[in-house]
Amino acid sequence: MQVKTAIITGAAQGIGKAIAFQLAKDGFHTIICDLNEEKLVTAKQELKDQGFNCSTYVVDVSRRDEVFQMVDDVVNNHGGLDVMVANAGIVQVKPLIDITEEDLDRMFKVNVYGTLYSIQAAAKQMMKQKYGKIINASSTSGKRAVELLGHYAATKFAVIALTQAAAKELAPFGITVNAYCPGIVGTSMWEEIDRQMAAYLNVPVGETFKNKVDSIPLGRVEKPEDVAGLVSYLASEKADYMTGQAIVIDGGNVFS
Ligand code: NAD
Repeated sequence: MQVKTAIITGAAQGIGKAIAFQLAKDGFHTIICDLNEEKLVTAKQELKDQGFNCSTYVVDVSRRDEVFQMVDDVVNNHGGLDVMVANAGIVQVKPLIDITEEDLDRMFKVNVYGTLYSIQAAAKQMMKQKYGKIINASSTSGKRAVELLGHYAATKFAVIALTQAAAKELAPFGITVNAYCPGIVGTSMWEEIDRQMAAYLNVPVGETFKNKVDSIPLGRVEKPEDVAGLVSYLASEKADYMTGQAIVIDGGNVFS
């Protein structure tokens, strides 16, 4: 039986790396890609230490040619692509009135263009197969924007729009498209948000993060593995009838 394949973008650390571990445990051959080659090598070794082989690609998801090249390569080497997790993303803390053209370009190029390129490249192959699952990283910021994260939130709303449209367009080909919307996950991204918030709000480093975590009904910070559990479900046959959804996983915070 052919081993199923899953590409995870932005998988050298954080949520993407946890997803790679989970999908490897679920039996997928994982293809992990990231901008950061050094961390990618470490992640590959960590997976190997747990008995999992994976392939690595240094890819900038904001470059369409690189994303398509990776998918072509994976299809040539493995005969198909079952799952695409468009996880790579960046954040920036800034009041809307200070956001520059360069800030906006970078944020949209990675979070929106990168997600669309991942959807397009995966769909090109999955439409031929008449099967596939595309899973995109949105955020609770994609459901409700907060201050100082306005342009980040705009990209995460956009990811949900792409997810909904892609789900409709690709349903006739047996492809499902869903998104995950984490809350406050303890990764480098939140360290960065906290550091930048501290500077803007003139509060000690650590305070914004602590206040946010203290408000979570389930009483703890979200772990990358919490998100990986949801992605595991979305990548499995159990989710065959689910498409076009953007699922919040945030310890009960957003709409409670
Ligand atoms: P992280 O910063 O820890 O990891 C992101 C990874 O993406 C890094 O390894 C980075 O090198 C890579 N990356 C960045 N730009 C890239 C590009 N252009 N091409 C390829 N790789 C690139 O972030 P994380 O916390 O693991 O977040 C993963 C995803 O989940 C992001 O899309 C993020 O917006 C989303 N998210 C995170 C949180 C959170 O609280 N951490 C909450 C909601 C949503």
